[in-house]
Amino acid sequence: MRLSDRVALITGAASGIGRAAALLFAENGAAVVAVDVDDTGGEETVALIYQQGGHASYFHADVASSDGSQQMVEHAEKKFGKLQILFNNAGIMLGEDADAITTEEAIWDRTMEVNLKGVFLGCKYGIPALQRAGGGSVINTASFVAILGAATPQIAYTASKGGVLAMTRELAIIHARQNIRVNALCPGPLKTKMLMDYLDTEEKRQRRLVHVPMGRFGEAHEMAQAALFLASDESSYITGADFSVDGGLTAAYVTPDEPTAL
Ligand code: NAD
Repeated sequence: MRLSDRVALITGAASGIGRAAALLFAENGAAVVAVDVDDTGGEETVALIYQQGGHASYFHADVASSDGSQQMVEHAEKKFGKLQILFNNAGIMLGEDADAITTEEAIWDRTMEVNLKGVFLGCKYGIPALQRAGGGSVINTASFVAILGAATPQIAYTASKGGVLAMTRELAIIHARQNIRVNALCPGPLKTKMLMDYLDTEEKRQRRLVHVPMGRFGEAHEMAQAALFLASDESSYITGADFSVDGGLTAAYVTPDEPTAL
């Protein structure tokens, strides 16, 4: 199995990408610490892992809290003896996040606290645990908006994901000779609750799909497969990468649906 004898901590594991990754990592032999603020969803993820014969433990932590982040890492080491895979995946997309003129400071602050500071705190407490284990893999969930600008603005979300990508590159360099790899997963638009709540009409969904060469939204399990690759030794020479899994979105200038190719 691709992750046998590994211990993985996944934030945002109550739903979407985090849950899909928790199930897939466990299926591939990892013991999984599932972290979230949604206790019902988090416990459900763990129950699903036990149903498929794996090992997991749920831990409630707000990734924006220093205490929470420290305690989730301590829990992993206490429960399973070590930590080698850290998937900083929890994130929020707030409805009131728009352009620079209209976005309230409170929306900016909370988005940064969860999406950017949360990843920093995960690394602050998680990387020393990876060092204690002799090395490992960190995966930070960024987004295609860390690479491309959008005309439908979510200024705080976009800035937070740009920060995640920049921070990932620097961490990768700093820890490259410690057997610790750090990569950013950059998903395209996905058919998860987060985005479907935001694109709440068929018209908005079709408008977004114009930009995706494959003409469909990605699925959480497709992100989980990419995360599994980054977590496993199969990606042993990959660090500091912006790993786009986006149906061709960031490669496209004009997509097959658009009338002109000028
Ligand atoms: P999701 O809403 O299904 O999952 C996010 C999870 O994070 C939820 O379970 C939520 O409870 C948890 N969470 C939120 N705030 C938290 C906090 N402070 N502490 C701990 N847990 C917290 O969404 P998803 O699509 O699976 O998103 C996962 C990641 O992928 C996010 O970082 C998101 O920004 C990113 N992403 C999503 C898309 C998309 O289209 N859905 C695209 C690009 C990137």
